[in-house]
Amino acid sequence: MKRILVLGGTAEARQLAGKLALRGEVTLSLAGRTENPVAQGVPVRVGGFGGAKGLAAYLRDHRIDLLVDATHPYAAQISVNAAEAARLAGVSAIALHRLAWERVSGDRWTLVEDAAEAAELLGDRPRKVFLALGRQELAPFEDARHHSYLIRSVDPVEPRLSVPDATYILARGPFSEANDRALLETHGIDAIVSKNSGGPATYGKIAAARELGIEVFLIRRPPLPHLPCGTSVEEVLHLADHLLAPGAEKRGE
Ligand code: NAP
Repeated sequence: MKRILVLGGTAEARQLAGKLALRGEVTLSLAGRTENPVAQGVPVRVGGFGGAKGLAAYLRDHRIDLLVDATHPYAAQISVNAAEAARLAGVSAIALHRLAWERVSGDRWTLVEDAAEAAELLGDRPRKVFLALGRQELAPFEDARHHSYLIRSVDPVEPRLSVPDATYILARGPFSEANDRALLETHGIDAIVSKNSGGPATYGKIAAARELGIEVFLIRRPPLPHLPCGTSVEEVLHLADHLLAPGAEKRGE
């Protein structure tokens, strides 16, 4: 049996791992950020590896034949580590890079480098802002205390943001356009800060914002290393099948 390590934390990684489990012995790796991750359906290991060298050691120690980076498009550090670790350990590596959302007519997008730039560009006029960001990315908004914030997260935001007006909602995607539209209307939202995550699971707010004429501050995608990649579970399976085929050489050997 070929051994496959899937770096996960996304719905696609879960689906991919399930399908790869029919082709080899799969382990799915999670960073451990979410308190109660959904069941993954394959053996899981949790926690960092200790940088690229640590991951390379894991690949060697566990005699991994194929590394699959199916992490979120904004999880850039682990993707850089994956490419470097595969090189160090001489293991084949492929990636799933979800396509970014494309701007369509009616979208009011302002592209920003990061949350700090979004916080600044929200401006001096008090606004009602939906922060569709991870818990670790909210700190810059403490410098823009005159806005009201709506914050949706999987796990509670602890400590709370040090701002006078913030409402917290606990929810796990996928989120429909209808529900997100209702959320934006109920809270009178006039600006959204979001990543360009791609995929349908979190696109509802983007579509709803377009319909409601709401401005979206969209954080640019970070650059990712160049690995052979697909944009869907099917494309990556196809790549994996090619690399796992009998006779396929381990890279670097
Ligand atoms: P990151 O900044 O790229 O990674 C920081 C460190 O976390 C890495 O150097 C690594 O530690 C560890 N790590 C990250 N992903 C890992 C994985 N799948 N397995 C084991 N260790 C991992 O990552 P992040 O942006 O914090 O994302 C963390 C996790 O959440 C990822 O699994 C990602 O797919 C998921 N996620 C992220 C976002 C997002 O917006 N960033 C959204 C949804 C889901 P060591 O250096 O010690 O190995």
